[in-house]
Amino acid sequence: MKFCDICSRQAVTSEFSVVDGRGVEIFLCERCLDTARRNGLSTADLITIIKSIDGKYCPVCGTTERTFLETFRFGCSSCYEYMGDIALKTAERVQNSTTHQGKAPRR
Ligand SMILES: [Zn+2]
Ligand SMILES: [Zn+2]
Repeated sequence: MKFCDICSRQAVTSEFSVVDGRGVEIFLCERCLDTARRNGLSTADLITIIKSIDGKYCPVCGTTERTFLETFRFGCSSCYEYMGDIALKTAERVQNSTTHQGKAPRR
């Protein structure tokens, strides 16, 4: 069983892309795949997002971006300083994904 690299839900698909000369495979759940398609994000864009997710966390309370993406909640007031840009990105994504899920992604 694979899990979505963005939100850690059950992944339904994997995408492969070459970034900086290296092949990178990422896993996506139905929701993130749908959101990415709708926003016109390429696999390379998603890899950039995933890298930024893995790389950031709040050293004050230990909240990681992954945790934030699961709960949409910051652990302390310093979190915004360290992860504010992702919060903005996430807010955009959430807004996009709360408009109803249209067609299911096709394989
Ligand atoms: Zn996901
Ligand atoms: Zn914090």
